[in-house]
Amino acid sequence: DDVTAWLLGDQLNPTLDVLADADRVLLIEAHGFADRRPYHAHKLTLVFSAMRHFRDDLRNRGHDVTYLKRDSFGDALGAFLADRPETTLRLMCPASHGAAERLEALVDEHGGHLDLVENECFLTTPADWREWTGEHEPGRTYRQEHWYRHARRETGILMDGDEPIGGEWNYDEYNQETPPEGWRPPETPRFEPDALTRETHEWVTDRFDTWGTDDLDGFAWPTTRADALDALEDFIERRLPAFGRYQDALVAGEPFLAHSLCSPAINLGLLHPMEAIEAVEAAYAERGVDPGAFDPAGDGTGVGGTGDTTATTLAAFGGDESSADTDTTLPPVPLNAAEGFIRQVLGWREFMRHVYRETMPELARANQLDQARDLPPAYWDGETGMTCLSEAVGHVREYGYAHHIERLMVLSNFALLYGADPAELNEWFHLGFVDAYHWVTTPNVVAMGSFGTDVLSSKPYASSGNYVNRMSDYCSDCPYTVSRTTGEGACPFNALYWDFLTENEEFLRGTGRMGLMYSHVDRKDDEEWEAIRERAATVRERAAAGDL
Ligand code: FAD
Repeated sequence: DDVTAWLLGDQLNPTLDVLADADRVLLIEAHGFADRRPYHAHKLTLVFSAMRHFRDDLRNRGHDVTYLKRDSFGDALGAFLADRPETTLRLMCPASHGAAERLEALVDEHGGHLDLVENECFLTTPADWREWTGEHEPGRTYRQEHWYRHARRETGILMDGDEPIGGEWNYDEYNQETPPEGWRPPETPRFEPDALTRETHEWVTDRFDTWGTDDLDGFAWPTTRADALDALEDFIERRLPAFGRYQDALVAGEPFLAHSLCSPAINLGLLHPMEAIEAVEAAYAERGVDPGAFDPAGDGTGVGGTGDTTATTLAAFGGDESSADTDTTLPPVPLNAAEGFIRQVLGWREFMRHVYRETMPELARANQLDQARDLPPAYWDGETGMTCLSEAVGHVREYGYAHHIERLMVLSNFALLYGADPAELNEWFHLGFVDAYHWVTTPNVVAMGSFGTDVLSSKPYASSGNYVNRMSDYCSDCPYTVSRTTGEGACPFNALYWDFLTENEEFLRGTGRMGLMYSHVDRKDDEEWEAIRERAATVRERAAAGDL
């Protein structure tokens, strides 16, 4: 039989089994989708440049690659199948809901045959998930922590026999520090755009209406597998140690902190999630110390760890390039860093993918709180006096990236309290982020960030200005006063927060762990409530007018 391995734009890995005995490879650059929304120019550049690099990489490896640029998949399939009516198209199941059926119908329409196989770009399969839900979590809601422990047991990652390494499953309490003033993270690597990326970017900005910066200055994403592997190595050598402590921190002028920046490459298929996990596990095996035992900011005070940190010198961390060449001089990897990273990839990422599969199409329009406001203009133009919001939107406009806490506790928290429509917020994330794909953005934005459904959490990730104040250095320089809730100049998060709790009281009071919050609600008197409502209304009005 003649077999064509058809790879989609988020399946760009040359080591996939699906390629093994294929007679040729088909890649289709379909442009029509990018006309539907004003995507970030860097996102389109990244996707198309990575596809073009992948084409060249496969050809160098000896594959016969057909690379078609068309408006739609239908156009491309028509042309392809007219030339090769006998071939079977072998396609890994697309991650996007409904895509498998749509593509199957298109192939059928053009008289071809489609063979759908398992998507190898994920770590776990739908059957793995079904087995777990069948045994452990039958019902309508799922909890990431339970899934994560199950996945650790099944894979043996960071396990010592049947027990988690170190005795605990989760070292989240060691992931919540903020760095001391003046601490700077190790620099992130730059992958200077090559000629192909530049040419792709020129075409993108010419051809499409895009959003965000349209110059390439801040574009530092790997577009090839080789660069993606280098990026992973650089993270593990230099930034992983600090990722542990500062995973939840926000620091002015530091969009990346010690985050891995791996999501664009993993989501394109350039890196397999297992590669990232195994590399981190190996680094822990070589350089591991107790949770909290290594302090990347160098003041020597661990958060209670007792591990041996003498294997390294603090100076080697992010400092002297020459000393970073040999493993003995690399900084130690505390267990809270290794476990924290693995929890994100093995736990959260796989979990989100399966929750999406299980709950679509309802998930995309879930809106249990009935929120319907348009997103404030600040999400589009970044114009706001609020330091946290302007920093976060600024990072998205400039890089198509913001780290997890900016996404969750600034961008979606504000939209949630403000009352924005979850589906519109999802659109915004989808078009603005270089790592956004429907399967990953939708559960994160609609379920986690907007509490459009309780399928994965029993309470909303809602917070007043206190959270940002605790986790960042933003509030001291902000024109708004975080310690005040009402009146002119009070932090907008505060009145919105209390107003949100009362507006949604019927829904939220009895749910999850909201009891403590409602005990605060109950202690406020009528006069205070009036001032809160007034301030919340002013904040909403000004935000809607682009004047916050
Ligand atoms: P790190 O902080 O270094 O984390 C390591 C890896 O863990 C990431 O690369 C990613 O692969 C994985 N990961 C961590 N958390 C999640 C999660 N909740 N869901 C899926 N993977 C996770 N992630 C995306 O990949 N694409 C999105 O469009 C996206 N949208 C989000 C929207 C909201 C509102 C929220 C709250 C989270 C979103 N996330 C999304 C999850 C997470 O914020 C990003 O994966 C992460 O910030 C990517 O940066 P990083 O690679 O530096 O991550």
